Amino acid sequence: MTLKTGEEYIESIRRLKTQVYLFGKKVEVPVDNPILRPSLNSVRMTYDLAQKPEYEDLMTAISPETGHRINRFTHIHRNTEDLVKKVKMQRLLGQQTAACFQRCVGMDAFNAVYSTDYEIDKKYGTSYFENFKKFMVYVQENDLTVDGAMTDPKGDRSLAPHAQPDPDMYLHVVERRPDGIVVRGAKAHQTGALNSHEIIVMPTIAMKPEDKDYAVAFAVPIDTQGIFMVIGRQSCDTRKMENTEIDVGNSEFGGVEALVVFDNVFVPNDRIFLNGEAEFAGVLVERFAGYHRQSYGGCKVGVGDVLIGAAATAADYNGVPKASHIKDKLIEMTHLNETLYCCGIACSAEGSPTASGNYLINLLLANVCKQNVTRFPYEIARLAEDIAGGLMVTAPSEKDLRDAKLGPYVKKYFKANPEVSTENRIRILRLIENLTLGTAAVGYRTESMHGAGSPQAQRIMIARQGNLPMKKELAKKIAHVKEYAHA
Ligand code: SF4
Ligand code: FE
Repeated sequence: MTLKTGEEYIESIRRLKTQVYLFGKKVEVPVDNPILRPSLNSVRMTYDLAQKPEYEDLMTAISPETGHRINRFTHIHRNTEDLVKKVKMQRLLGQQTAACFQRCVGMDAFNAVYSTDYEIDKKYGTSYFENFKKFMVYVQENDLTVDGAMTDPKGDRSLAPHAQPDPDMYLHVVERRPDGIVVRGAKAHQTGALNSHEIIVMPTIAMKPEDKDYAVAFAVPIDTQGIFMVIGRQSCDTRKMENTEIDVGNSEFGGVEALVVFDNVFVPNDRIFLNGEAEFAGVLVERFAGYHRQSYGGCKVGVGDVLIGAAATAADYNGVPKASHIKDKLIEMTHLNETLYCCGIACSAEGSPTASGNYLINLLLANVCKQNVTRFPYEIARLAEDIAGGLMVTAPSEKDLRDAKLGPYVKKYFKANPEVSTENRIRILRLIENLTLGTAAVGYRTESMHGAGSPQAQRIMIARQGNLPMKKELAKKIAHVKEYAHA
């Protein structure tokens, strides 16, 4: 049985000895922590949906390596159909969780490492591809969640890794032993590290030969000695500790990020996927970033569907569903959201095979996809706030709503549509607050800006892939320009 149930997944995470810190204290049982648990529930959905026959085609695939049915999050894309299904799967999960479900980074790392390692081995006769395939089959057979870790703290941005005053600003090899390597450094903003069984580490930028100790990729169990994580704060996170439900907005699902510290961690030889071949660091980064920029054309669209639905419901509950400006705003939100989806599908449909045989998205279109994601969710969020009205940020707490003395006043004065309870109206407004300003805003807003690379990173790729010389030739031909006629 290669597919775990959601419950089996939760219990397998519970058994790990992951070192987690939150608010300055060690979290003894992260699985049961009220601030952390919703993020685990989001990953669980990737297991629960894979059990449902109606989603089998989207959520699972047959592994060519083992012939077994596996979760698509552990799959290597073999054709453009796989790439398209990936985006559809992510939209579905965004719709079901309204949060970051975290497991995509591992899938994107899998596909980037797979093709890059094949090419490194061809050039250098190394055995990284075999190492990776062995690890991949282990992950597939045990249906594991893997964190794909790329972002180093980076220190002084004007300096290369080896030139940093503090050598740990980029994760690097500190010792080479016959049986493996020892690494030190950190990975920041790690989505899903908390809820993963394993972590794949990759370099974060293109590198030169003098950075070869920093050109390192590998996988280790997340509870390996020397690894610990410090959980990031999120807006309104402590509402989850108030023992109320409505004020949280989305009480069941969420996502968290962490600073993952590697304090002299040993990596055995058979878990190393890159070790000093500096010119391949950039290839790996470009491919991982490309896959993750494709991913946003799925996950953010799914969360956008929930936000549009919440805004439309708020309009109903406010009693203004027929107002023409409200209808127009909902059309605009839909137009923007579906444009992102078009980008996700387009870069997938235009994918092509790598030398290893797996499929890479069209990198230009994937970068255009993510560039739009740095803008459109902000406009969708702005329109949702416009439709919702100010009550989404001024409504009294659930405790006031439930209070014997205050409750009747809250219900009376915040009633709008007579058919709708004040409680339901506040529930929907709190969901909009959560998605635009609360814990989910990390995943829907700021991550739309900076996740998978900040806007400028995409513009550099768009400049490289845009093929301006070819376009100039087109124009000159149409205009009958003969540049050398006067020479
Ligand atoms: Fe997946 Fe989106 Fe979260 Fe990235 S931000 S891990 S693509 S859900
Ligand atoms: Fe992300």
